[in-house]
Amino acid sequence: MSLNIKAKLLIKEQLKPDIFKFGVDARKIADIAKPGQFLEIRVSDSIVPFLRRPISIYNVDRQNGTVEFIFQVKGEGTKILSKIDIGQEIDIVGPLGNGTFDILENKKVAILGGGIGTFPLYELAKNLKNKSSEVNIYLGFRNKDAVVLEQEFKMVANNLTITTDDGSYGVPGFAINELKKDLDKEKIDFIYACGPLPMLKAIRQLSIEKNVPCQISLEERMACGLGVCLGCAVRKSETKKDESQYAYVCKNGPVFDAKYVEI
Ligand SMILES: Cc1cc2nc3c(=O)[nH]c(=O)nc-3n(C[C@H](O)[C@H](O)[C@H](O)COP(=O)(O)OP(=O)(O)OC[C@H]3O[C@@H](n4cnc5c(N)ncnc54)[C@H](O)[C@@H]3O)c2cc1C
Repeated sequence: MSLNIKAKLLIKEQLKPDIFKFGVDARKIADIAKPGQFLEIRVSDSIVPFLRRPISIYNVDRQNGTVEFIFQVKGEGTKILSKIDIGQEIDIVGPLGNGTFDILENKKVAILGGGIGTFPLYELAKNLKNKSSEVNIYLGFRNKDAVVLEQEFKMVANNLTITTDDGSYGVPGFAINELKKDLDKEKIDFIYACGPLPMLKAIRQLSIEKNVPCQISLEERMACGLGVCLGCAVRKSETKKDESQYAYVCKNGPVFDAKYVEI
């Protein structure tokens, strides 16, 4: 079930020059949101930009009835969003997405995130930790300036590895390489990932090779967010007779079994 609400902006933090954390008063969404779901946000009352912008849920506080999301200013829509002030209301549809992260109990899991794809992984890690799973987190960023949420992820991880492509912070190289080293040494029950497409392709391949179940969250460009426009199609890796070859990120995802989609 998704709702359309006007949510008052309660928290506004600028984490980086182009990255903002917003917290909104949205008890009805907080009550039902699941890790991996997203919001469709109307950034302006005017006709332009017309389409809502999809942004993942970063953190849910059920007690206080708040929902937090983090976004990078990319174009017109997110620029307008970043100008909203505390106390103003934001028109939100959510929580959206039928494919959500499986929250496993008492398992050893790995979470792989890259860049802005790390944001939906916090709510996931928090929920896994609450279910007594051992949470090993690997986050990759371009460079030191791009590293975000290190302290926050530390709080919900048993082990946190930060990597940077240029070696300016943490372990030099890609986060997936660190995860692979651990996979070679020890058994990991499940992998979760969200990040740039090349990273998701690589983790999909690795999880198949190592035979470890894996869920990936796809942040494909989408328009309506409701399964109407079919703009966010991804090809399924296998289809039954008379079945569509495509799945839709907004309706069937954004989280998929890595084996199920061809990326
Ligand atoms: C399910 C889902 C969850 C998302 N969660 C988050 C999140 O938590 N935080 C966050 O910062 N962003 C997230 N995104 C991406 C975010 O929706 C876009 O960055 C945003 O819609 C851009 O709007 P804009 O008007 O600012 O830019 P536009 O003017 O629409 O686009 C500006 C530039 O960004 C590119 N772009 C737009 N959307 C995407 C996309 N989905 N993937 C790659 N490039 C894109 C465009 O091609 C263009 O080059 C998510 C996307 C999806 C589909």
